[in-house]
Amino acid sequence: MVFTVEMKKTAIEQAPSKKTIQEIFRTYYELGRAVNLISDFLREKGFNAQAIPAIGSNLNLTVMARDAGLGGFGKNGLLITPDYGPSVRLAAVLTDIENLPVNQRLDYDWLPDFCATCHACVKKCPAQAIYEKPMICKDGSEQHIDYKKCAVPFSKQHGCTVCIKECAFFKSDYKKIAAAYIRKEKAAK
Ligand code: SF4
Ligand code: SF4
Repeated sequence: MVFTVEMKKTAIEQAPSKKTIQEIFRTYYELGRAVNLISDFLREKGFNAQAIPAIGSNLNLTVMARDAGLGGFGKNGLLITPDYGPSVRLAAVLTDIENLPVNQRLDYDWLPDFCATCHACVKKCPAQAIYEKPMICKDGSEQHIDYKKCAVPFSKQHGCTVCIKECAFFKSDYKKIAAAYIRKEKAAK
């Protein structure tokens, strides 16, 4: 089970700032508390459950969230969600419950094509850490960010977060962008 918590717009708009990093850590705290409470509850009910917090795990929460149908990948390597764009943090609970309901999956396949017309995150990243085209790793997975380059502003400038602040899906509404893009694509055919 994968969970998202929104990072408030007013704090992210000020990135990079102390207010932004406080908001990031608020969401880490809220998510950590939630997944631990949910795991405790499930164990009380007789299921196996393991909380995966938003920070410090070696699981790829973005891939898990995508596979759970919560959003698609943006060029910035972040989960783009219909409700809050990229302005979310993620956590999860691993459990052995069978037949969990699965989110109704929206079509996110158009996101890479849209990102190919945007590039805002690539242009605005202060470390030039976002790849124009994702690197394909040995295991076939995609890597969107040069994490060594990103680590410098991330650690020195309050968590940076410019790639969220500048994302089209943060500045505007996902559903409006999707509707306009799909209309344009249909008209071009
Ligand atoms: S956090 Fe900052 S440095 Fe890292 S990828 Fe995003 S914009 Fe670039
Ligand atoms: S800023 Fe543009 S290119 Fe980057 S993830 Fe957001 S929509 Fe895609």
